[in-house]
Amino acid sequence: MEKKTNIQEIFGKLVFSDQLMKEKLPRDVYEAVHKTSKYGTHLQLDVANTVAAVMKEWALEKGATHFTHWFQPMTGVTAEKHDSFLSLHSKGQVLMEFSGKELVKGEPDASSFPSGGLRATFEARGYTAWDPSSPAFVKDGTLYIPTAFCSYSGEALDKKTPLLRSMEALDHEAVKVLRLLGHDEVTHVNTTVGSEQEYFLIHKDLYKKRKDLVLTGRTLIGAPAPKGQEMDDHYFGVLKPRVSAFMHDLDEELWAYGIPAKTKHNEVAPSQHELAPIFETSNIAVDHNQLTMELMKKVADKHNLACLLHEKPFAGVNGSGKHNNWSISTNTGKNLLSPGKDPGKNTLFLTFLMAVIAGVDDYQDLLRISVASAGNDHRLGANEAPPAIVSIFLGDELASVLKALDHGKTYKSEGKEQIETGAHVLPHFDRDTTDRNRTSPFAFTGNKFEFRMPGSALSVANPNIILNTIVAESLSQLAAKLEAIPAEEREDKIYSIFKDMLDEHKRILFNGDGYTDEWVEEAKRRGLFNLKSLPEAVPQLLSKKNKDLFTKHQIYTESEIESRYEIYLENYAKTIHIEALTMLDMVKRDFTPTLFKYMKSIAECIREKTAVIEASAGYEKSVLKDLDTSADQLCADLKKLEDDMADAESKSDLLAKASYYQSTILKDMDDVRQSVDFIETLLPEDELPYPTYDELLFSLR
Ligand code: ADP
Ligand code: MG
Repeated sequence: MEKKTNIQEIFGKLVFSDQLMKEKLPRDVYEAVHKTSKYGTHLQLDVANTVAAVMKEWALEKGATHFTHWFQPMTGVTAEKHDSFLSLHSKGQVLMEFSGKELVKGEPDASSFPSGGLRATFEARGYTAWDPSSPAFVKDGTLYIPTAFCSYSGEALDKKTPLLRSMEALDHEAVKVLRLLGHDEVTHVNTTVGSEQEYFLIHKDLYKKRKDLVLTGRTLIGAPAPKGQEMDDHYFGVLKPRVSAFMHDLDEELWAYGIPAKTKHNEVAPSQHELAPIFETSNIAVDHNQLTMELMKKVADKHNLACLLHEKPFAGVNGSGKHNNWSISTNTGKNLLSPGKDPGKNTLFLTFLMAVIAGVDDYQDLLRISVASAGNDHRLGANEAPPAIVSIFLGDELASVLKALDHGKTYKSEGKEQIETGAHVLPHFDRDTTDRNRTSPFAFTGNKFEFRMPGSALSVANPNIILNTIVAESLSQLAAKLEAIPAEEREDKIYSIFKDMLDEHKRILFNGDGYTDEWVEEAKRRGLFNLKSLPEAVPQLLSKKNKDLFTKHQIYTESEIESRYEIYLENYAKTIHIEALTMLDMVKRDFTPTLFKYMKSIAECIREKTAVIEASAGYEKSVLKDLDTSADQLCADLKKLEDDMADAESKSDLLAKASYYQSTILKDMDDVRQSVDFIETLLPEDELPYPTYDELLFSLR
């Protein structure tokens, strides 16, 4: 009999939710915690002690024996260090203890986490500090407490701290603008995020046979399968039973952790899928996305599957991204990016729309950097993903609204058009006023912006830090202009401010096809950035304009910016270094012996055949000749890669090193791959030391 799922019963059952806190804590304690999470006030120790005691009782009921501070160092993954609740008292008595101090502060050794030079100015010590705005939960017998992570001298060593700072900055600037426009009812704004997550699922057994997948997350060699995604038969196709079973279990796991998983479907590439949650406050959405990625891998494992989160696991088929849906809402429940019935007259909507447009234009480079990684570079600018050029797609209606603005007119909404299907049994429905442009990196989609450049493996912390900060900055500039106008004239005069902003920033608007060469040319004429690779992009982090932005809004200090710059470059070089080593290992130790064995068997075949009969052995000879020529080429390719690797590793300047990996090593690896992939098509499949693209992409039932 099929198991019945009751979502309401499962949802959040492993979470120490706000609701639970409200029920279990004395009222004044609950209010003190709330104040902390809302206004960042300091938590008194007696309050912390009470919360810790209640949290511990709840965690013990859920079977927890340990607790951990859960944080997000600059590795892109989460970190944890488990301590048991156990404490020994005199007479050997065992107690389960958890103090307010342990809840609020932890001291993991920071010395082995990336710090990008920050460590030079502090001791190895690092601190984790409880983030009461993201709920604690119990996982695998441990109470997880979301925390921020900083150095001895208070510098952020993680992604949560700057994210929280950026949310505060946006809150501050947005409320200021709202006040200036007479909206005193709003005391607080929040950014919301829904991140659609793409991934691949393959057989675990096949995965284990591929060193490249295990060590680097992507296939470094492998000839394309005879069939790819050209038939478009996978997109939204029927779920295969094993995939469906996985998704079902995953949903239940996610729900138990209070993650509002909503939509699941097949994606464009074979074996590629997508999961979308309902949006939440940015901070929680980021934590939940990290947890989602972890649970995807764990649940896949249970189903003897491997979940691939790399941005480009397979050459020649689509890579995976993560669409970051982003909006701003007020404490009164209003979505500030909702255009309403008549967007041309919706001053609030236009205010925030223009702020986003200005921010994205002024800081295109930062948005690009926020999604930079060795993995994502394979995707951006390739034919299936948004280009590395940042531009905004608004759709026809908003484009008309702005055109009217530009001409000093007000756009009149003609109401929603109806779609007629021509079949009378079908209901008629309204045509959406924003259509879809899949090629745009930054698209307005109804009542939110969808930033499509993040890669599937990235933490969405960085893109949201940047989004919040750049919009905070344009709101701050707008506020300065509004302040100079008498209150009663603002509502009127703001339209001429909009017009000026539009004049200044309209180059960032692009409604066409972002995948074409014409756009690349056009973008160049418009003076837009086209930062194709990480080493090209990240030096912009240090530009005066960007440093000023971060320090003005107190998102990063100068040394925190420099540390991020270093970590980007270090990670990039290390990633490609590991990939190249893995490739050399696979080719030299697994692939080459197979190749030699096969050549030997052909040679023997020719010898034996011609000894027995008078034969030309023409086919055999031609295959052997092809293999021999390709083997020579491969030999030269390998030698070049090895020599260049030695050069790369001898470079001490971080930027020079990363650039060399980008311009030379990646190219060398492509050459090795070409030779290997060609030879692969000549080798007997069952002798190959690893599973082929065919098996990897098409064997799951
Ligand atoms: P689609 O993009 O496929 O049309 P939706 O528009 O319903 O689907 O939503 C896509 C994602 O955007 C979902 O994760 C959804 O929760 C999120 N989303 C919807 N509204 C908002 C909002 N106001 N802020 C942030 N994310 C949102
Ligand atoms: Mg979408």
